[in-house]
Amino acid sequence: MLRAIQRLMVVWTVWVGCSSAALGWGEPHKDITRAALGALTSGEREWLGPELEPLWNDYCLIPDRVFTDRANARYATLPSRPGEVYLKILHLPTEPLEYAEVLRHFLGQAVDAVKGGRKGDAARYLGTLCHLVEDYGSPSHVLPGDNQFQLLQQFLPPPAEHGDQLLHGLVENGRLEFTLEGYQPRFLGETVPEMAWRVQHRIHEAIVHARSVTLPVVEALYAKDTARVTEHQLRAARVDAEVVADLVHTVLAVGSGQVSAAEREGVASAGIGTFWPLEAPSLFYPQSTFFSAPEWGPVTHGYLRRDGKRQPLKLRVAGKDEAQVFGDGIAAGGRSSLSYWLPAGVFRWIEGTAGLHAEFGGAGVLEFRVLNGDAVLWERVVRGDEPAVEFRVPLSEVERIRLEVVGKGGDPRQQYGIWGGVRLVK
Ligand SMILES: [Zn+2]
Repeated sequence: MLRAIQRLMVVWTVWVGCSSAALGWGEPHKDITRAALGALTSGEREWLGPELEPLWNDYCLIPDRVFTDRANARYATLPSRPGEVYLKILHLPTEPLEYAEVLRHFLGQAVDAVKGGRKGDAARYLGTLCHLVEDYGSPSHVLPGDNQFQLLQQFLPPPAEHGDQLLHGLVENGRLEFTLEGYQPRFLGETVPEMAWRVQHRIHEAIVHARSVTLPVVEALYAKDTARVTEHQLRAARVDAEVVADLVHTVLAVGSGQVSAAEREGVASAGIGTFWPLEAPSLFYPQSTFFSAPEWGPVTHGYLRRDGKRQPLKLRVAGKDEAQVFGDGIAAGGRSSLSYWLPAGVFRWIEGTAGLHAEFGGAGVLEFRVLNGDAVLWERVVRGDEPAVEFRVPLSEVERIRLEVVGKGGDPRQQYGIWGGVRLVK
């Protein structure tokens, strides 16, 4: 009887611990991790050897099993949070700066374990990292503050036959058997701070992608169309697995000193035009950050919004007749502030082109500033009838870069400010 009560207590603790936060993909964690490991080189899989199978079959669930698998629970703890057994941050993203710290910790542990040949430790820390990436990119975890979908169900009420079932588990669970055939894992940085930074931005891509999956899955659930549920879940799982493959590959390559010259070259610089800045912590621009001129709306990436249409980002560049299109540019409007944290000591320069749109900005005047926090590193007033200005600013000791645009007179309806091709360079 006592045994039974104890067992019930354990079940209850686990249930309460998890339900208040997030259950995560469940079984699909295994499917996603296995697909990701399948994309590694044969050398990498051989290095993992006997740890390969438990990594996908067991260790990727360590953060969910901290109450039942006490032997491995320490691989999912943070020294900065002594005594905390279940860490919600391993399942749900919080502030980008906060979970960047978490990524740095576990990536550091995993790389050190690979360097030291401690394969068991390496695989377990990788398991925790796989779990984090997979949960963050799960279609059940991507609605800020509503991972049980109460708010969503107010917008999209279920049909009567759905009853009162919580959606979280239904949205993400099932069997998702797939491979990443043909996918070549990306290399995400030579040092732990750089890896944490690049992994975070890859995770952001997975989160935004998974958001496009959530509603189709819910609608398919309401329609009791199981095949369609799986089909959409697989879309999110694939992108999740790609990020997991990138992460595991990078840790193994750096830890074992197997970084190729091409991979090193591939991370010699980083375009940040598509990155989400700290002003958009939940990966959308809150209304409080909208600019008022030239049109009321958020910052956009890769295009600008004008009269309800998408327009390419064109800047006139000195010495060229044709305006240049910046596919990875940022439409910063007539007033905006965009901040990005930088990995310590990795990049030496920030460079790019700043100006007003070649066709729509002729009568606007804007000041462009590059700042380190509040300290101005570079600033220039640009008129719409002048060519855009190129900049290259040194970055030593800079931890947070800020790109600011401020109106300086002219026609407010033509303040189409653009940051073109902004890159960090080593
Ligand atoms: Zn989880």
